[in-house]
Amino acid sequence: MKITIHRGINQIGGCITEIESSNGTKILIDLGHNLPEGDQPSKDQLDTPSHLNEIIQGVSHIFYSHYHNDHIGFEAKVGDKVTQHIGALSLQMINNLREHMLYADSLHEDAEASLIALNKFQVYTSNRREQYNDIYITPLPISHSAIDAHMFLIECDGKVVLHTGDFRDHGYHGEELLQQVGQSLKQPIDVLITEGTMLQRDDNRVMKESELQDEAVELLKTSKYVFVLCSSMDADRLTSFILAAQRQNKNRRIVADSYQTKQVITIKNSALAPYNDIFVYNFRYNTESEIDRMKRHGFLMFVRHSDTFQKNIARVLSETGINPQQVLFIYSQFKGYIIEEHKAYKSQLHDFVYKYEWQVEYLHTSGHASKEALKTLCEFANPTTAIIPIHKEKVGTLQSLNLHVNCPIVESTTTTNDIEIIIK
Ligand SMILES: [Zn+2]
Ligand SMILES: [Zn+2]
Repeated sequence: MKITIHRGINQIGGCITEIESSNGTKILIDLGHNLPEGDQPSKDQLDTPSHLNEIIQGVSHIFYSHYHNDHIGFEAKVGDKVTQHIGALSLQMINNLREHMLYADSLHEDAEASLIALNKFQVYTSNRREQYNDIYITPLPISHSAIDAHMFLIECDGKVVLHTGDFRDHGYHGEELLQQVGQSLKQPIDVLITEGTMLQRDDNRVMKESELQDEAVELLKTSKYVFVLCSSMDADRLTSFILAAQRQNKNRRIVADSYQTKQVITIKNSALAPYNDIFVYNFRYNTESEIDRMKRHGFLMFVRHSDTFQKNIARVLSETGINPQQVLFIYSQFKGYIIEEHKAYKSQLHDFVYKYEWQVEYLHTSGHASKEALKTLCEFANPTTAIIPIHKEKVGTLQSLNLHVNCPIVESTTTTNDIEIIIK
């Protein structure tokens, strides 16, 4: 068996792992686009067809661990010779996103091509072992800031690989799902390929999503009028704010635009929903009665960074006559995006957040495995041949975890125990 880490050993995102059997069956786990840096659109050499073709040459199947942009993005460009696989709810969520992108002139063409490709996707079933030529794959459900995320157990040439994708144990059902992964590992693992996003971050305890919900309740008590900026693809986070608003004051209007409402309904109707007693009002800012209700009962309105939302916010403020100083703006994403010194700093996003003299509060917790969760995973997987950390900064190191496993951490090309590992 040959394992090729095309990207990920020293970068977060743009993940691509290739597994090739001795008979020449080649599959990919994720084919992710590089993440953008700052205000610039994301750059990726795989946007050049010849580079992409080098990677997908001979590949018969691609398995996506989840729908985040750094794990998928070339689905329209890989061609019909490759079968692409993702979870059923993930497919619905990404379809909703692409349909929404059709409305933006600059994204319309790509969204259209993606929708055609997504229509041909195969859906895999959690915990069901399937054979693809001489490789067996079992998708194992796990918690992440993308709902319906999966790890993969890969059996090839008598060896077993566990690929974690992105995961965490502090989301809703996080601990339970991580334990279930532990229980489903019946045979010894030869190679563990694990995400290491948080490896270089400090040691502070990571806040659980349920604790974030409690903090949101407290924050909501401080203002009747609240805007929330969070990911429309993060089921846990949308759920946290909706439940917090319901708990704090059941009359508070929970407002979202038609796209976010669609995502919430998709989540709510799924068997994977963290809770299904959530409700949300479709945002109709031009309805006089809704504006009136928002002013009377207070509101929690989900917003996104866009010109449209800039106008929506201005309109809500002017039509309700609410003074921005009475308003709370909750920023619920990675803090680095709005800190000038950070390399991920997005100046336009910063200006959007600080546009008015409202109170800005930061309330967020990572979508990724804490060091503790990584240690738990590594120790119960207890691989015999190699641990390969990916989806991490160059400086992040698994050594810092003091793992109780008797297995080398591999970050450069080697052959061990009949497994060829190539780190690009
Ligand atoms: Zn990722
Ligand atoms: Zn992710």
